[in-house]
Amino acid sequence: MINTQPTVTIWNEYRQEQTDPAVQAIYPHGIHAPIADHLRHQNITTHIATLDQPQHGLTPERLAQTDVLIWWGHRHHHEVDDAIVTRIHERITLGGMGFIALHSSHFAKIFCQLMGTTCKLKHAVRGEQERLWCVSPTHPIATGLPERITVPQTEMYGEFFDIPTPDELVFVSSFDNGEVFRSGCCWRRGRGKVFYFRPGHETYPIYYQPEILQLLTNAVQWAAPSGLQTVTYGREGRDW
Ligand code: ZN
Repeated sequence: MINTQPTVTIWNEYRQEQTDPAVQAIYPHGIHAPIADHLRHQNITTHIATLDQPQHGLTPERLAQTDVLIWWGHRHHHEVDDAIVTRIHERITLGGMGFIALHSSHFAKIFCQLMGTTCKLKHAVRGEQERLWCVSPTHPIATGLPERITVPQTEMYGEFFDIPTPDELVFVSSFDNGEVFRSGCCWRRGRGKVFYFRPGHETYPIYYQPEILQLLTNAVQWAAPSGLQTVTYGREGRDW
């Protein structure tokens, strides 16, 4: 029987968890670990790749076997090799791999390249509550979720978020001070689907929250490649 579940690779800088006690306390096995555990529990094959591995763990073979790449970057975006960024970009736009950018990955080279904008935003660590409102209840990423998810403590991100207008906006956040933010945004880039998801600061246990894990699983299913496997181009009678 063919396994129809997508294969996921989670990419993580994986430095702060090894050097910063505050981050270590929340994510002792890496911020990727609870997400990977949850996906594997859903029978989704999940690989881990990190910044300090050769080729950042993203060899052509690994990317070719990846249906959806989840990305966590924060402090070391600039250390990601441009050649690897190009490789990921091609795998998304030409190969149809899905891409999910988490939280501070708004400044990841690959995300900025996919967007073509600065991806700047406002931010403040005040430990406040976040309300994540679903604004597209029939979207696949909203499946099975409540209309509002409360994150007890979070870092605030505020508008204006300098991104291209999303093809589909699924979640909007509001914060204690009145700021709002487009927290769940979908785009198509070539053959690939891209999802940006805001919650997830490294000193709060957000990626252990069941609704957040469900949402990310939905996002993986949505972002997985779909549609025609091959397309023929060229001249009538010679090529097709
Ligand atoms: Zn943060």
